[in-house]
Amino acid sequence: MGTPAYIAGLNPEQRRAVEALDGPVLVLAGAGTGKTRVLTTRIGHIIATGRAKPHEILAVTFTNKAAREMKERIAALVGPVAEGMPWLGTFHAISTKILRRHAELVGLKSSFTILDTDDQIRLMKQVLQAENVDDKRWPARGLANQIDSWKNRGLEPKAVPAGEAGAFANGKGGVLYAAYQARLKTLNAADFGDLLLETLRLFRENPDVLAQYQNRFRYMLVDEYQDTNVVQYLWLRLLAQGRHNVCCVGDDDQSIYGWRGAEVDNILRFEHDFPGATVVRLERNYRSTGHILATAAHLIAHNDDRLGKTLFTDDALGEKPTVTGVWDSEEEARLVGDEIESLQRQGQSLDEIAILVRASFQMREFEERFITLGLPYRVIGGPRFYERLEVRDALAYLRCVSQPADDLAFERIFNTPKRGLGDSTLQTIHNSARALEVPLMQAARQLVETDELKPKQRQTIRALMESFTRWSGLMETTPPARLAETVLEESGYTDMWSKDRTAEAAGRLENLKEFVRSMEAFPDLGAFLDHVSLVTDTSDNESGEHVSIMTLHGAKGLEFETVFLPGWEEGLFPHQRSLDENGRAGLEEERRLAYVGITRAKRRAKLFFATNRRIHGLWQSTIPSRFVDELPEAHVEVKEGAQAKRYGAYGASRFDRPDAFASSYTTPGWQRAQQGGTARAKDFAENRGPLRRDSRLIEGELVASSSNVSGFTKGARV
Ligand code: ATP
Ligand code: MG
Repeated sequence: MGTPAYIAGLNPEQRRAVEALDGPVLVLAGAGTGKTRVLTTRIGHIIATGRAKPHEILAVTFTNKAAREMKERIAALVGPVAEGMPWLGTFHAISTKILRRHAELVGLKSSFTILDTDDQIRLMKQVLQAENVDDKRWPARGLANQIDSWKNRGLEPKAVPAGEAGAFANGKGGVLYAAYQARLKTLNAADFGDLLLETLRLFRENPDVLAQYQNRFRYMLVDEYQDTNVVQYLWLRLLAQGRHNVCCVGDDDQSIYGWRGAEVDNILRFEHDFPGATVVRLERNYRSTGHILATAAHLIAHNDDRLGKTLFTDDALGEKPTVTGVWDSEEEARLVGDEIESLQRQGQSLDEIAILVRASFQMREFEERFITLGLPYRVIGGPRFYERLEVRDALAYLRCVSQPADDLAFERIFNTPKRGLGDSTLQTIHNSARALEVPLMQAARQLVETDELKPKQRQTIRALMESFTRWSGLMETTPPARLAETVLEESGYTDMWSKDRTAEAAGRLENLKEFVRSMEAFPDLGAFLDHVSLVTDTSDNESGEHVSIMTLHGAKGLEFETVFLPGWEEGLFPHQRSLDENGRAGLEEERRLAYVGITRAKRRAKLFFATNRRIHGLWQSTIPSRFVDELPEAHVEVKEGAQAKRYGAYGASRFDRPDAFASSYTTPGWQRAQQGGTARAKDFAENRGPLRRDSRLIEGELVASSSNVSGFTKGARV
């Protein structure tokens, strides 16, 4: 009996991780070392050797997309049997399936609905009202956030520590949480966090059910283990206590969801909770060429709070990652577009090219450039810029200002932000519009002169109509960007998101700013709206090759020949919010994100920073990200965009001169750069706390190596 082909291609360590079928296994290894490949092969191996049937294997991926891909790969290894893997999916998908089967045991019916965020907020508001809590002072979204974070930590209402439960709404946090859960049960509904928490409760309170699943799952596997949160960990541990055959793979350097409750310490707990676990280290990176790997390794070595690991590649050094200083984001998008066209001429498939941004507002400039160039692109993990909820709302307001007959736009913003106008009011306006054969807005104007509407609604609509009259009057005299700003502010729309405490709100506000900024190039509102219609009309033909545009968070686990990494500037990346909210820990999480970004590249990594960003029509000079300073000179090539050069945006790069980028500024940016440098030093001094790492799985220095270049030999330290 020879070695099966799927195993013959593995290196000895990978092979060990695949073949160690009895007992717990932890694979802790850097990016691109084949962790996901090990998982996939292991599943194939379990099936091929008859150790378990496909439906007896539980496999957890981080996204639904990753689950689909894994299924395909397993099928390629062992044939179509892999089709019958009902338990391969995300924690949420698997939990939903389990919960539906035993819903009555946690007070639900198997037909329970899963609430989206909007429903969740609406329900939360009702709970606040019922408990007489002022939702102006204690907004529903704040409570929703708090409850989510308790759920992520596996805490039922009765388990929430008194201090925390008391912090919200003058001591009512715990009561509100319990009341909310009770409301969910009456509605036969679960929110996203419940899917896991209720499954955990199901297992805890029903040992027979737990035993049934412990028996069923002969093998359990988890990808991206570093990003599991507490409730997921507890869930997993309960199940794994049956047969102990659990295999987790992860990389502490790629833990990037701390803000969502992920706990990298789960990795450290693993050995403790699963004594005798086989711990496998993979050190050979199969994805990236030498310079790219060395660059990523050098950068992440600046983090203190890490386990440290060895990484090497047998690949050639390849092309050095480039760092290009550009004048502004427009030049950035232009250069990226040019480079993609040139790669395309060299035969590179667009499917092998990705643009990874830190914040989603950065996408707009690239999208517009690609549309101009006719380059097919796809935004992964979210809508295109002009199709985002907040951007469409903003557009709807402006369409109403510019074309008062635009009924669709009016319906969209009629009660957004909430102003107490319900469906029945809208229906009345509709009826009147139909009778009078006029657009909705005109009908509304006429209705407020009658007594068909209740006084409160009449008053609200009158005020809204007066605002629209005023805004339309401004069209002649005010530049469109200013007008948009006024409309969004006076309508309360911006405010709605400012008050919102959910995780996406800050991103939405950034998108609104970018939206306003995008109008600056247009002489009047009409011209801008026409432009948007044309831009959004480009039908996304699904077939054919596409450049991928996505956030760094969304890129986890993926790989591309060429990766563009724009916007490496202080404040944007590392993102100011992370620094403000989480200090040094926030900075380290941002650095891990940078590491994830660079390690997505197989052959080319192209970083950019702009020396200026235009915000609210004002130029602000920016300084390169501290992460740029932290790249290894020997492995990186520094470039300068033509426009940046012409304007003398910055002087000799730090790679020509030993002093830091900050002091090599020559123009107005200089002073800011100095300030930035000081702020940075302060930041470090204040935030460098004692490290809390009590157990270390792996001791080791960061090593990057390549076998073929002197001075950069196998095992050399970088
Ligand atoms: P990440 O940390 O980014 O999720 P990973 O550790 O999961 O990375 P994989 O995606 O599994 O790494 O593998 C990276 C690349 O290396 C893939 O293209 C994979 O096919 C390839 N690869 C992994 N192991 C081998 C091997 N033994 N021989 C050849 N190629 C390999
Ligand atoms: Mg992976």
